[in-house]
Formats: sequence, structure tokens, C-alpha cells
Amino acid sequence: MSVTVVGSLAYDAVKTPFGSRDRMLGGAATHFALAASFFDEVRVVGPVGDDFDDASMEVLRTRGTVTDDVERVAGGKTFFWSGVYADNLNSRETLATDLNVFEHFEPKLSDASRSSEVLFLANIQPELQLAVREECAAARFVAMDSMNLWIDIAREALERTIRTVDCLILNDEELEQLTGRATTVAAAQELLGWGLKAVVAKQGKYGATLFTEEDVFALPAYPLEHVVDPTGAGDTFAGGFVGYVAAQGADASHEVLARAMAYGTALASYNVEEFGTERVTRLTADEIAGRVSDLHRMTAFTEAPVALRG
Ligand code: AMP
Repeated sequence: MSVTVVGSLAYDAVKTPFGSRDRMLGGAATHFALAASFFDEVRVVGPVGDDFDDASMEVLRTRGTVTDDVERVAGGKTFFWSGVYADNLNSRETLATDLNVFEHFEPKLSDASRSSEVLFLANIQPELQLAVREECAAARFVAMDSMNLWIDIAREALERTIRTVDCLILNDEELEQLTGRATTVAAAQELLGWGLKAVVAKQGKYGATLFTEEDVFALPAYPLEHVVDPTGAGDTFAGGFVGYVAAQGADASHEVLARAMAYGTALASYNVEEFGTERVTRLTADEIAGRVSDLHRMTAFTEAPVALRG
């Protein structure tokens, strides 16, 4: 089942305690596509500038990702983001967000992209997400991401967009900020009331939690001794998660979504081991399967009740 994604295609400048990069390929749609392409064909929708080089386009096309709807804007500059990470790598400060070619972008989808059964609205202006959502009327499973910036400056459009999708994947703090609720659980419950089938709270190095009407499923992050650059971890998680759902015929049952969490977690764990797209570009299917079974082994336990006092 093919997956269409709209979101940023970017050059990023990042500084982490382990080094820095002045200009590396990034963008939410890029990281998503690199992960989701392990499961099925991905079609990317978004603009780039004249400066987007052939090597970046080749990375984007990894595992056959279709770039027909990547629009090259003559005279334009590719989206640029820059950030610096705190020593514990779990928080970061954004230094620059230059929308550049995204500022006046109007998505034009090919028939093939428009008829995908699975759609991911990666982090970008909510108005753009909504425009793509409305074009993809045939999609059977639609998930989206966003960020604090849009909660701050485009809350109304963001809320309108969220109400049109099946699944929201957001950081725990952003879920709380969006709803004004003090806990992630209360925030997720409120959002399920907006008509969502599922809410996934990303909790950085602590893992992620899935909320559906049926149940709650929490999965810790894959235990890693060394983390180099968390940029794109959330989008890589989303690529693994949504890609798995696509591979299961867009089945959005709690059981399938819980298993999808393991694929998102395993893929994200590879992403953070090197800068930007470096690690996932050369990742293999066997490596993913290895960490998914590790996660299963590490988190499954057999209940053996003991007589408790009191
Ligand atoms: P993540 O670490 O998963 O939040 O994703 C970081 C990626 O998202 C980077 O590669 C950035 O290029 C991209 N990004 C950062 N800020 C924005 C934004 N405001 N809109 C769209 N994409 C963004």
C-alpha cells in the first residue's frame, strides 16, 4: 500500500555534544521517507530550491521513494533549520527556521500521490497539511505530526487539521500544550474526543506511548549506550510506525498500532546513532528485525502472581 508524505525537505545545521554539521540533508519528510520506504512505496510531496543537490535527491530516492511531486522552485532556497542540543540530548533550542520555498508553496499532487491509501502529514504549516489532506480523499489511514511553533502561531488551523486525521503523533509536552492539560494521559484522552482513532505521545529518550479508545501501550526507547544526533528521530519513528500500518493494509486496530510502535522505536534508535540521515541511509532490513525482536524480548514478561500482604 503506497504512502504519501508531505513535509519539509531541508538542510539542517546542528550542534550536539558529539560534534556538529553546518549543512546536512534533513527535513521531516526526508526522515519519514527513509524509514517508511522499508515497508512500501513512498511518494514525497514538497518543494526544494535550486540549492538542493543531486546527492540529496539520491538519498531521498533510497529504496525507490518516488520524487515526482518534489517541486524544484527556480530561484528559491531549500527550507533551512538549525538547532543546538543540550548535554543530555533530550532538549534542544531552535536557532533558525527559514521556511524559504515553503512560504508560498501550494501542493500539486499527481494522481498517484493523491490516491495513496496511507497519508502522513509531517511537520509543516498546518494549512499545507490540511490542503494535502483534502486532496487525498481516498486515504484510509491518515497520521500527522506538528510542533510547538504551530501550536503557538497557527493553533486554529492546526486544530482544524487534527480533526480530519486518524492518528496524531506528537511530543508529550506538545500534547499538553495543545490541550492545556497537565498530564499526557489527560491530553491524549481529550484528543481522542476530537475524533482521533489514536494518539502517540513521543517521549524522547524515554520512549513512546500509544492511546486508543481500546487501551494504552507504552514502549521504552531502545537502550543505547551512545547517541550522537537525535535530529529526525521523531520523523523516523513516524516512518516506521506508519510504514508498518501501511504494510498491514491500513489496519488501525490497537493490536496493529502497538506492533507498529516497535518498528518506529527500532528505526528511530538507528537514526540517533549518527548525524542526520547518515545511519538510516545504509540501514538493512535484518538490522531492523534484530532490534524489533530485542524490544519484544526486553519488554515481554510472564505474569506470576505472588501473595501480597495487606
Ligand atoms: P525531529 O527531530 O523529529 O523533530 O525532526 C527534525 C527535522 O524536522 C529536521 O530535519 C528539520 O529540518 C525539520 N524541522 C524542524 N523544524 C521544522 C518546522 N518548523 N517545520 C518543518 N520541519 C521542521
